[in-house]
Amino acid sequence: MKRRPTGFVATCQCGVAIGAMDINRIERADAGRLLGKWLYDGCTVEPRFAGTWSAEIGPCKCPKAQGDQHE
Ligand SMILES: [Zn+2]
Repeated sequence: MKRRPTGFVATCQCGVAIGAMDINRIERADAGRLLGKWLYDGCTVEPRFAGTWSAEIGPCKCPKAQGDQHE
């Protein structure tokens, strides 16, 4: 039987995990939106299948695109 993921972790192009979601704690529509945003941003989205899991989320280290606000 195919397992359903219990959550997803988004890893940016810089290799930093920038987001995670527990699908049991998020509305299905919101989960879809968030997954779409991550993919649109060029992130790698990995499913998690364990009952409990954790991810170390950090700030993106990519250089800011031109037009973004400077830090
Ligand atoms: Zn990044």
